[in-house]
Order: sequence, then structure tokens, then C-alpha cells
Amino acid sequence: MEFRKKITLITALSVSAVILGVAVFFVWRGDGGVKTLFSGGHRWEVRKKEAHSRLLASPVLLYHNIDGKGAFSIGLDTLRAHFELFGRDGVQVISFREFFSRLQNPRPFIGKVMIISFDDGFLSMYTKLLPLVKEFRYPVTLFVYVDNVYHRAKKNITWNQLRTMDREGISIESHTISHADLVRLEARNTPESRRRLFEELYCSKRILELYLHRKIRYLAFPYGRYNLEVIELCRYAGYERVLSTDYGPNIVTRNNYCIRRQHIKNNYPLEKIKAFVK
Ligand SMILES: [Zn+2]
Repeated sequence: MEFRKKITLITALSVSAVILGVAVFFVWRGDGGVKTLFSGGHRWEVRKKEAHSRLLASPVLLYHNIDGKGAFSIGLDTLRAHFELFGRDGVQVISFREFFSRLQNPRPFIGKVMIISFDDGFLSMYTKLLPLVKEFRYPVTLFVYVDNVYHRAKKNITWNQLRTMDREGISIESHTISHADLVRLEARNTPESRRRLFEELYCSKRILELYLHRKIRYLAFPYGRYNLEVIELCRYAGYERVLSTDYGPNIVTRNNYCIRRQHIKNNYPLEKIKAFVK
């Protein structure tokens, strides 16, 4: 055999062996998505798209008070109807922690997923939300601002109640100290405003950690107000992710730091809630 022919044959054999090896590895690995690549590329593409869109569409709902007064406070019966809808629709309610950990080790969700969050820390979180969370066993995250939490109070939430909630299914995270407009503070750029920013971002995290005896990972911006400088400061303060009130689906990746949330208003019909988790 000619030298050139020999080389061609050896190269062809090597390439075939590598292709066969890779194919065997993937089939042996048993990854459904990859396996279908060999039995039809089209189906695999569809599955890839579905998994991707599920990540894109993972909605984060944002509620406030539960007394039915005002545009952003819904009644307990309405909230119960939402919770029942999620169960009926087969929506898997997951925590932020689970959601983000999936992104570190990317695995698509099998069904529809959704995250539920509440802001501010009204007393209704303890009196109305906690019993509902225990009944439905949905993990919920509550962003509280520290000035809204008391040692003793009848109309406000207390540290003891916060600790109970944190133990029993309502995970507590930071919403700053005084519910300040962080963009305005940052723009002022005086020694006083810089000290305030430090307190609002860093001290709120530390105070919550001291009272709850665990690490605080996320911060929700008061009034949904933020800019790039504020986001950078949140990174320095040690937050793993920050939450806005921007509408729209999340294009969530490992590196996406600022997550959008869908504000739920009092007058939204159930069909609209259903559409969020489609
Ligand atoms: Zn707020």
C-alpha cells in the first residue's frame, strides 16, 4: 500500500473510532436529550428549546400585604385561589435557593416552576401567610426591611415571629434597613449618603444574620429602584443575587445577577395569574 493511502486509512479509522467512542459514551451515559440526537436531530432541538424556554420563563411572583386594601395588597381568599391554581396546574413552587443552585449545575426543570416572594414584612405575613404556606407546603421568600421589625409590637412583625417564619417555610431575606430609594442615595454622593448606603446594603444583611442565625443571600430593591452602581455595591456587600420589580421573563443564567419579578396587583383576574405560569 502506498504511503499516502496508508495515512488516509489510518486517519479514517481513527476518526471513526473517536466518533463511535463518543456515541457509545453518550448512549451509555443515558442522558435522554443526548440519546435522541442519534435517533433524530429534530426532536433533540425541540427538547433543547423547551428546556431553554422553561428557564427563560421561570416566573418570580411578587406580593405585598394581604388585606385587600390598595392596589398591591390582595385579599386572603384571592391569595388562596392563586395557591390552589398553582397546585391544580401542576406548577412546582421552588425556592430561590433551589432555582439558583440549578443554574450552577444546569439541569432543565421537568415541569413548570415558579418562585413566590413577598416584600416589606407586614404582620399579615405571620398571621395569614404562614398558615397558608404550611398548608400548601410552598417555599416562599419574604424580603423585610429592618426598621419594620420590632422586639415587641401588636400591629407590626417581631423578631420572634420572623424567626418562627424562617424555620417554618418562609425564608427571610433583605429589603434594606429603612426602605430607602437606593438610586437617590447613590446619586447624592455625600459622606452621609455613602454611610447610609453602607448601612442599607451591608448592615441590613448583617443585622438579619445576627437575629436569624444564618446567612442572608439576596436583596430586593425598595420601590424596585436600582442602577449599575447600586448593583456593584450589592456585590461588594456580599449578596449572591438581587431582585428588581422589572416586568418580563427572566433570562436567567449562572451570571445573571439581577432577577426580574412579576408584581401581582389586587385587580388581576385569575386568568392573568394563570398566564404568568404558562
Ligand atoms: Zn418594599
